[in-house]
Amino acid sequence: MDYEAFFTGHLNRLHIEGRYRVFAELERIAGAFPRARYHLDGKVRDVTVWCSNDYLAMGQHPTVIEAMQDAIGAQGSGAGGTRNISGTNTLHAALERELAALHDKPAALVFTSGYVANETTLQTLGAMLPGCELYSDASNHASMIAGIRHSGAVRKIFQHNDVAHLERLLAAADPATPKIVAFESVYSMDGDTSPIGEICDVAHRHGALTYLDEVHAVGMYGDHGGGVAEREGVLDKVDILQGTLAKAFGVVGGYIAASEATVDFVRSCGSGFIFTTSLPPAIAAASLASIRHVRSHPELRVRHQERAATLKRRLAAAGLPVMPSTTHIVPLSVDDAALCKQASDLLLERHAIYVQPINYPTVPRGTERLRLTPTPLHSDDDMTRLIAALQDVWATLGLGLRQAAE
Ligand SMILES: *Cc1c(COP(=O)(O)O)cnc(C)c1O
Repeated sequence: MDYEAFFTGHLNRLHIEGRYRVFAELERIAGAFPRARYHLDGKVRDVTVWCSNDYLAMGQHPTVIEAMQDAIGAQGSGAGGTRNISGTNTLHAALERELAALHDKPAALVFTSGYVANETTLQTLGAMLPGCELYSDASNHASMIAGIRHSGAVRKIFQHNDVAHLERLLAAADPATPKIVAFESVYSMDGDTSPIGEICDVAHRHGALTYLDEVHAVGMYGDHGGGVAEREGVLDKVDILQGTLAKAFGVVGGYIAASEATVDFVRSCGSGFIFTTSLPPAIAAASLASIRHVRSHPELRVRHQERAATLKRRLAAAGLPVMPSTTHIVPLSVDDAALCKQASDLLLERHAIYVQPINYPTVPRGTERLRLTPTPLHSDDDMTRLIAALQDVWATLGLGLRQAAE
């Protein structure tokens, strides 16, 4: 086989489809969020970032930076081993206690990323529960799909957020078979939420465990930032809650929170937990500082929601095709891969605004979009400049506008 020809042939097809991935090289500037420096071909420009998942700008919060710096000064860079062999730090233990408390669960377990938390937990449970069946929402994230596939368990996909469809699938199964229902609270590309309580009730009626990915909700919803399940008062219905330290908490790492036995089981049997070096102590320290800050500052969540609502209202008033999100995620439809990339390029070149195009396979073909993520630090002026820039780009590319709302 001509391997090089195979690789370049595939890449050429991505170029032709307009969905070849080009990474924008950024240099972040602590204290200047949402401003960053954009590097291209040896040139540097200041840009405004409108697509960061550092949703609350905690990645640049002085308290978080200081906690990280202090821990590095005190303990050095790496953890020094896997959790089992010299790599369990007092800061990991403190972080797991904090996460358990945040979600009102008896225990928690930290992984090197949210992806690994999903993949490892679902793979381990799906493979080890005898005859396990995994019920997966059609819009679930790639990391859950990977875990479910690799578990070898029987996989059943229910229509997105369709409780009746889930119920039909569960009712058709052998009641004695172990089952897990896996879904998300906030779907990160559409910005919609799931009926958590209803899904959990149906799952439990049929003897299934519930597994909820709250990656796009932890830190941002609920009185203490425990997620949408906290906001809805249904934390007790979620058997396993999964989250990330990398989005609203602004650091890196992932976790699950669940019963003592569930957490101990994944700790003891999960390959992706066991056979990898644990997170650096400074990461744990920064995460702890971030969670504690976010838990005790509900006004951050109020401001975040206000910014998102304001942006949605202003986009709609300008006739821009904002999608019907009910969360802090603000997607704008373009519905064409090449145009979506061009819109993003024009925003950057003409207006110093950075919004990454979202193309297949992250979203279905024909639903390509620009995904805006307003944070508490995006000002009214930032929004004014963004909307003027979008209007220019929409006119330049001949993209459709809607009747202005309001
Ligand atoms: C980003 C994401 C993950 C993975 O989290 P990381 O900590 O970035 O690895 C998992 N689930 C969903 C829904 C995500 O969007």
